[in-house]
Amino acid sequence: MTLPLIVDAHEDLAYNALCFGRDYTRPAAETRRIEKSSGSEAPRFAGETLIGWPDFQRGRVALVFGTLFATPVRRKEGDWDRISYADFNTAHRLYRAQLDYYHELVDRHPEQFRLVGSRAEVEAVLAGWAGPGETHPVGLLPLMEGAEGVRALSELEEWWELGVRIIGPAWAGTRFCGGTRDPGPLTDEGRRLLHAMAETGFTLDLSHMDPLSARQALDLYPGPILASHANAAALLPGYDGNRLLPDDVIRGLIERGGAIGVVPFCQFLDGRWKKGDKRDGITLERLADHIDHICQLAGDARHVGLGSDFDGGFGLSSVPTDVDTIADLQKLGPILSARGYNDDDTAAVFGGNWLARLKTCLPA
Ligand SMILES: [Zn+2]
Repeated sequence: MTLPLIVDAHEDLAYNALCFGRDYTRPAAETRRIEKSSGSEAPRFAGETLIGWPDFQRGRVALVFGTLFATPVRRKEGDWDRISYADFNTAHRLYRAQLDYYHELVDRHPEQFRLVGSRAEVEAVLAGWAGPGETHPVGLLPLMEGAEGVRALSELEEWWELGVRIIGPAWAGTRFCGGTRDPGPLTDEGRRLLHAMAETGFTLDLSHMDPLSARQALDLYPGPILASHANAAALLPGYDGNRLLPDDVIRGLIERGGAIGVVPFCQFLDGRWKKGDKRDGITLERLADHIDHICQLAGDARHVGLGSDFDGGFGLSSVPTDVDTIADLQKLGPILSARGYNDDDTAAVFGGNWLARLKTCLPA
């Protein structure tokens, strides 16, 4: 049987390309070799890369939500992070530069990468995987993580025209809502943002929103909602952060027809694990636990997908031991099968559920 296609709902490709000069047309193994021999600061601060176009091919990763992301300066971890902002004009410039990166990447490597912003463009990418041959185009769908690149609501139209289709208002807390390690509700400005996003046609990404804001947004947002990269808080005993999703927020997402991308990051799989720790015993089985938990809450396998967040501030030493590159996400197939998931369910979790969402939330 051919392996199912993967849709990965969260990868910080542009951030890494612009901060560390990573070239994602290369295999991950080659980028690691080059960064090691050149003394690049990337492995030390971002971890060893998990991604490259040839790895997408091996793993049948057909479509990726590529993020635009910048760090608010109060959360900056060191001088190496050149993608940080102290004011909204800088944020806007940094987010825009990342969107330009995606446009340049597809212009320079049209046989490898394609921007997608419509259902027809998704279909064209999928057709490229249905045909024979060993070279398949990887679709890139721009996702804005943290909305502070939006200086004024009147700019939303421009972001849409340039290809952004999904916006997550938070990373840390923003002027719009509470975020990771910054609990809090939606603000008035946040409510206005959601209203304007829905008018323009954006999909809302709840990831990083404080659960209080997320619950309000689930009630308020009339458009499509998802969580591109988040695991279930209930599976990490003693977890007291606000980054993972409590069950009531997962249920809310399910009720609203949303889906959740689970993250193979050790810290989101084992509550005691910290960066630098050994990964003994942490395998993709733990990720399957999160998939299974969401499926149990939903009563089916139609509300969960993958949101690897690879190269999102962690690398090889922070992922399950059975993962060397993004291609190894295919190892989840036999794990799910052993748990009783049939081939249709596995294909849905790998990519079908995200593709079904894109059919309803993207323009024709
Ligand atoms: Zn994130």
